[in-house]
Amino acid sequence: MDRIYNSTILIIDDDDDLRETYVDLLMFEGFENTYQAADGQIALETARSTKLDLIISDLNMPGMDGIETIKRIKEFQPSVSSMILTGFGSMDLAIKAFSESNVDDFLSKPVENEELIEKIKHHLSMKDRSEEVESSNMVRGQFGGQKNYFGQFLVDNNFITEDDLIDGLAKHKESGKMLGLVLVEMGIVTADELNRALAEFKGYPIASSRDFQSIQTEVVGLVPEAIAKKNILIPLAVQGDELSVAMINPDDLQVTDTLKMISKKTIVPYLATEEQINKAISETYTKIRSSAKASSALSDIFGEDEDIDIKEIADDVDDEEVGEGSSAVVRLVNSILQKADIDGTSDIHIEPLDNSMQIRFRKDGNLYIPEGYGNLPKKLHPSIVARVKVLTKTMKIDVKLRPQDGKIRLKIAGRKIDFRVGSLPTVHGEKVVLRLLKSEALFPIEDIFSNNQTYIDTFTRNIKRKDGMVLVTGPTGSGKTNTLQSALNHIKDVSLNITSVEDPVEMENPGVNQVQVNEQQGLTFSGALRQILRQDPDVVLIGEMRDYETAHIGCEAALTGHLVFSTLHTNDAPSTVTRFIEMGLKDYLIATVVHLVLAQRLARRICKMCKKEFKYDPAQLRGIGFTDEEINSITLYKGEGCPNCKGTGQAGRVAIVEMLELTDKIRTAIMEKASTLEIARLGKEEGTYFTLKEDALRMFKAGIIDLKEALKYMI
Ligand SMILES: [Zn+2]
Repeated sequence: MDRIYNSTILIIDDDDDLRETYVDLLMFEGFENTYQAADGQIALETARSTKLDLIISDLNMPGMDGIETIKRIKEFQPSVSSMILTGFGSMDLAIKAFSESNVDDFLSKPVENEELIEKIKHHLSMKDRSEEVESSNMVRGQFGGQKNYFGQFLVDNNFITEDDLIDGLAKHKESGKMLGLVLVEMGIVTADELNRALAEFKGYPIASSRDFQSIQTEVVGLVPEAIAKKNILIPLAVQGDELSVAMINPDDLQVTDTLKMISKKTIVPYLATEEQINKAISETYTKIRSSAKASSALSDIFGEDEDIDIKEIADDVDDEEVGEGSSAVVRLVNSILQKADIDGTSDIHIEPLDNSMQIRFRKDGNLYIPEGYGNLPKKLHPSIVARVKVLTKTMKIDVKLRPQDGKIRLKIAGRKIDFRVGSLPTVHGEKVVLRLLKSEALFPIEDIFSNNQTYIDTFTRNIKRKDGMVLVTGPTGSGKTNTLQSALNHIKDVSLNITSVEDPVEMENPGVNQVQVNEQQGLTFSGALRQILRQDPDVVLIGEMRDYETAHIGCEAALTGHLVFSTLHTNDAPSTVTRFIEMGLKDYLIATVVHLVLAQRLARRICKMCKKEFKYDPAQLRGIGFTDEEINSITLYKGEGCPNCKGTGQAGRVAIVEMLELTDKIRTAIMEKASTLEIARLGKEEGTYFTLKEDALRMFKAGIIDLKEALKYMI
C-alpha cells in the first residue's frame, strides 16, 4: 500500500485556486510526485515527458475538455488511471465518458477532500495490484488483500483442497483473474459453488433464477448497457428507493457508487455468476432495443412520463409513417423541449448526421449529448424537424434548402417558455437550433400593459425605431428592467447587435450581450458604454442613467444611429424631460432623441383564487370619476381573502403605466424650455400622454386591481 505514495499524479484544472488546493492536499497526504496543468495542452506536454499513474482532470476547460485530454494521453500512456471532476450539470457527459471507458471514474464537484483522497488511494492501489499481476485489464475483479482469506475460507469449508488453492493462486497470479473465477475455469469448483461460497464469505445474497426471470425492462433501462457489460452486472428490481443489482463483484465500491449516481437509488448487490449475468444482459437489452426500434434512447427521453407508450412510437417508426403530426412524434418533441427546460439548458441542437441523428443541449456555454440522445434513428429526423416547424406556425415544412426562423411559445408545467427557432440546411439535412427564452420573469409586452391596446401599439412602434431613445422611469422595484428586457426580447433578432450595460445584470437574456458594470474594477456605466459603442451595436440598453456623462453618451449614441433604452429615477413621464435638463444636457439634444417615456409602478392584483364581484360604495366611485351609468353597468371585483393571498384578497403584481410620446409640438416646446406642467398639458392636448391615474382606473374597471389599490395611484 505504501508504494502508492510513489505514484505520479497529474492534476488538470483551469481554475488556478482549485488546482493548487488539490496539489497542496495531495502533497500534504504524502503524494510527492504531483504535477499540475492549467489546460489540456499543458497536460499533454507533461504526459509526454513523465510517466503518469493517475490523471485527475476537470471536465469543462477552455480548449480541450477533460475527456478529450485523457483520451489523448491514453494514446501513448494506455495504462494510466483517470478521474474526471465534473460540475453537477455535466453529469450526463461524465457518465457517458465513464461508460465508454475513456475514464475510470468521475466525481461531482464540489468534492470533499476525504472523498477525493479515498478515491485516489483506491485507484492507485487497484493499479498497483494490477501491475503486480502484470495485467492491466483485470483491475476490478480482485478481492484485494482478502484473497488469501477467501482461499483459506474455501479450504476450511471443504470447497477445495489445500493443493487446489496453491494451483489456483499460481494461476491467479499469472492471469490476474479473480481466484474464484480461476478455480471455476480449472474445474475445481462450479460457478454455483463459487457463488455460494462468496455469499457465505461476504454475506451477500445470491440472485435466484426467479430473480432473473422477473427482470423488468424499465428497471434495466436505469443502467446503460455499456456500464452493465463493462462491469458484468444487471439490475434486477426496484423496490422503493432501492435497486437490486446482480453482480459478480459486489465489493467494487466504485461500480456501486456509479450505479447509485446513475439510478439515484440505493444499490442492493446480489451475487450471480458471470454466465447468468451475461445471458441476462444480452436478453434484456436486446429486448429493449427490439421492442423500441428507436433505440433505448427513447425510453430515456421519455423518462417518467407515464402517458408515453414507447411501443407506439416504435411501431410508428417501424411503419415508416412517422409524420410530424403522429402522436408519437408530438410527444417526443414535447419531451425534448421539456427535458431541455428542466435541465436548465439554453439551446437545443437537432442534428442530422450521415446515418443517424443526435440531439445536443447547451448548458453554461457547453454543448453535450444528454444520455441516450445520441445515435437516434435517422428516419425520426424529418418528422422531428417538421413537428418543430409546425409549432412555430410560420416556418415552412417543405422549404428545406434555405435557412428559416420562427418562434414557439409553450406552456411547460404551467410556465410560459419561448423558444426561438432557426433552421439551416446541411449536407445531411436540416439542422434546427432552438434557443430557450425563459419568459417566466419576463412578461410579454401584452401582459405588461394588461392588454391596453393603445399602450401596446405605442410601445412596440417606438421600440422598433432605428435610433433615438425610449425611457422607463419609476422607483426601484417598479419593474423597469423587466419592461426593457421584454422590449429587447420583442425585437431581438439575429440581424441585430443588441448590447446592454447593467448594474447588476438582474435577469439573463439570451441573445443580448449583457455587460455587468464593475465600478471597483474601473468599469463604470460610461466607460462600458464607450466600449460598447465601438462594437457596432444596433440597440443599447443602459441599465440606468445616473450621471451626466452616461446620459450624455447615451443621447449622443441615440442621435447617431443607435436605438437606446434606459431608465431614470423620476416620478412621472413629463418630469423626465426636465430632469435631463437639470443634469446638464442640452434641451435640443433631448427634444431630438427622446421618443417615448414610460413611468411605471407595480400594483397588487386581485387574488385570482378568491376574486368575487363586489358592490363598492357609489359615492366613493363617483369620487374617482365614475358616472351614474358606469356605477350601474360596470361589474367590479375584489378578493374575499383566502389561503392563497393569506386573507388579503391580493396576490401577484401588475404594472400600472404612464406613457408620454413626444410629438413635434412637444419637441418644440422642450427647446423653448417648457415646464413639466406645460409638457404634460401639451401631451394631453396632442393625445399622446396617458397618466398613471388613467391606467389605474382602467385596471380597476377591468377587475384587475381593487379600489383600495387603484386609489393609491389616483391622488
Ligand atoms: Zn385570495
